[in-house]
Amino acid sequence: MQISNEKVAAIHYTLTDNNGTVLDSSAGKDPLYYLHGFGNLIPGMEEGLEGKSVGDQFEIKVSPEKGYGLRNDAAIQQVPISAFGGADVRVGSQFQAGNEHGQYIVTVTEVNADMVTVDANHPLAGVELNFKVEVIEVREATSDEIAHGHVHGPHGAH
Ligand code: ZN
Repeated sequence: MQISNEKVAAIHYTLTDNNGTVLDSSAGKDPLYYLHGFGNLIPGMEEGLEGKSVGDQFEIKVSPEKGYGLRNDAAIQQVPISAFGGADVRVGSQFQAGNEHGQYIVTVTEVNADMVTVDANHPLAGVELNFKVEVIEVREATSDEIAHGHVHGPHGAH
C-alpha cells in the first residue's frame, strides 16, 4: 500500500539542518503516525512521502516555503522588560503571547537593561530542512479519523 490521501502512515525520521546538526528525531521513540493529506505535516513532507511504501528509506529536502515559512522581520519586536512582570527573562526564554489572531510563542533574542527583543518567528522559519525517513506502516484511515482530520488509536489524538 502506498501513502496517499486518507491513508495513515507511520514514519521514523531524523531532521538535520544544512550543517548536519540534528534538530529533531524519532529515533528511540515511537514512530510518528499521521493522516496523509490533511495538513498534519508541513507541505514539503507530505509531498515527499506521497506514493512511498513500507520499508522505503529516503531523504526529503524541504525549502522554508514548504516548511515553517520564511523569516518575517516584522515578527521581531522590542518590549519593555516591565511587561514580563518580573519573570526570569534571558536569551532563549520562550513566552506565550497573544493578539487578535490568537496565541503564539515568542523567543527572547536579546536582553538589555530595560528592553527585551522577542522573535515570534517559528524557530525553524527560514531554515532548509533535511529529513531522513523510513516508512514503518501504511494503513487505511477509519471514517472517524477522516472526519476528524487526525489519527486515532494508541499513537493518535484521543
Ligand atoms: Zn479525533
